[in-house]
Amino acid sequence: MRIHSLPPQLINQIAAGEVVERPASIVKELVENCFDAGSNQITIDIEQGGTRLIKIHDNGCGVEYDDLTLALSRYATSKISSLNDLEHVQSMGFRGEALSSISSVARLSLTSKTANNIRAWCITTDGAEAVFDIQPAAHSQGTTVEVSDLFYNTPARRKFLKTEKTEFSHIDNLIKKMALSHFNIGFKLTHNQREIINLKIADTESLQQQRIASICGAEFIKNSLKINFSASGLQLSGWVGLPTFSRSQQDRQFFYVNQRLIKDRLVSHAVKKAYQDVMFHGRHPVFVLYLSLDAALVDVNAHPAKLEVRFREGRLVHDFLFSALYRSIAEQRPSLPTLNEIDSHVDANNFSANVAQTQESSAHFQPSFSTTQSSSPLHIKAEIQNYLIQPQKDNNDYVADKTASFPPLGYAIAHLHNIYILSETREGIILVDAHAAHERITYERLKKQYYQGSIANQPLLLPIKISVSTSEADLSEQQSLIFNSLGFEVNRINLETLLIRSVPILLAKADAEILIRDVLADILDQGSSNLIEKQTNEVLATMACHSSVRAKRHLTIEEMNALLREMEQTERIGQCNHGRPTWVNLSHADLDKFFLRGQ
Ligand code: ADP
Ligand code: MG
Repeated sequence: MRIHSLPPQLINQIAAGEVVERPASIVKELVENCFDAGSNQITIDIEQGGTRLIKIHDNGCGVEYDDLTLALSRYATSKISSLNDLEHVQSMGFRGEALSSISSVARLSLTSKTANNIRAWCITTDGAEAVFDIQPAAHSQGTTVEVSDLFYNTPARRKFLKTEKTEFSHIDNLIKKMALSHFNIGFKLTHNQREIINLKIADTESLQQQRIASICGAEFIKNSLKINFSASGLQLSGWVGLPTFSRSQQDRQFFYVNQRLIKDRLVSHAVKKAYQDVMFHGRHPVFVLYLSLDAALVDVNAHPAKLEVRFREGRLVHDFLFSALYRSIAEQRPSLPTLNEIDSHVDANNFSANVAQTQESSAHFQPSFSTTQSSSPLHIKAEIQNYLIQPQKDNNDYVADKTASFPPLGYAIAHLHNIYILSETREGIILVDAHAAHERITYERLKKQYYQGSIANQPLLLPIKISVSTSEADLSEQQSLIFNSLGFEVNRINLETLLIRSVPILLAKADAEILIRDVLADILDQGSSNLIEKQTNEVLATMACHSSVRAKRHLTIEEMNALLREMEQTERIGQCNHGRPTWVNLSHADLDKFFLRGQ
């Protein structure tokens, strides 16, 4: 067969293969166009999962009469005009191919009116390039795009569509995710004329929280920390779930780069690493996070549907994310609620169930950390310090004198069943799992001692020889300082052979060869590795577990109070080494709820 040029419609249909995977991908492109048009109210009407009809209405800038045919033409866009624009692109779209691709696999019409124009126009296409029909129409300022009979002319692709319900659920999820990063826009979604989503513009802090709660669940806001960090031109804000409010799947993780929802390995790695030390095995954190940075530092032209981006300085972004999240998690401390700030984090009905909760369960029930901005870690620290400089008084005095400064975790009353410490706090009571809390305290102390001191290592009687690739051997030389600082001595003895001469005493029983190999593979793949630290921490965690108070040993009041005071000083105290909660809070309001007081 000789070479020939393809007809325009076929070119568009091929392009549509990348952009239009299913109805939800059309909705994504069309709603992104509404964002770019500056709309603040978007209505999405869907019929039969989007296969029958997708109709999207906005109140944005609209399209000029003269530009209507160009809007539906391939490689025509109002958003960029040079390579330099592409490298700084701020808009969601820039490829100029969505409308032409969509119109090649479905029937499409676009009705629009601009502010300058007194009348609206409607353009329709039969899919073939350059065959357009333009008619006057009735429309307020903005644009409505209607896409009907998806894949009517490409029956093979129609077969890949799932049920109406499945296709609609993709659209529903998509709109929610988009709404999470566009608080300044109202969204309405209907399916077969039934209203499914109706989100008003959320221009205040409390409306934003309401929107988050209506999308991610009310529990999410209660069990997450609001964060805001910036450094080196990067800004990370949003909500991160407490480690104990984890899920078995990664389905509540939303990460936006300059308002664009993306999936990124580098980001997942940084998040996973930040939660590593507090996350129950096999569980995943929840978060809604927004990263903002100079558009020139991200390449958004890395994926046809723009679901991925490339960071120009990946390492910097990774380390920034990691340290911001790591710090937010580490610095969660018990807060000192003020008398008029009684929060009711606890659903009274959950209480008994939660106290009895077993190790496997997801620990839905949370210690009551203050999760708003007002309780920044520094603020909490200052309050704790403030308390510490008060002269220590006899326990009874404090109970009697409620106006005195009260430590966040209060004073111990009893050791229930020799397991739980019951403590009276200024705002109610708390229960502490003494073993879990002690385990975290010991673990944090061991880690501090271990990493601050020089790490004792032990020469191997028989050094271990390992064969590696040349690039791995090069890497081991470059990273030798890191190995040394963690207690390993690794030498290169020729092009492709390494010799492990000594190992940290703590890891004497570990398989050094496998560990070093995995570390090198990690560094080659991701640019860094935390495997040595992870294994070391596992050993320290086990040591901490064995040397911590066992359940069933009775504690005296003094011992319990000492434990409470130590908890207040310990990082990551909200969870034990296995990610289980160490304490739960019942405020006055919760107690009143139990007894229907004041209702
Ligand atoms: P891109 O968004 O990459 O530019 P599209 O094919 O999605 O490509 O849209 C082509 C052009 O049509 C856009 O550049 C824009 O000028 C115009 N357009 C599309 N949808 C809208 C809308 N809802 N409001 C205003 N203009 C629109
Ligand atoms: Mg577009």
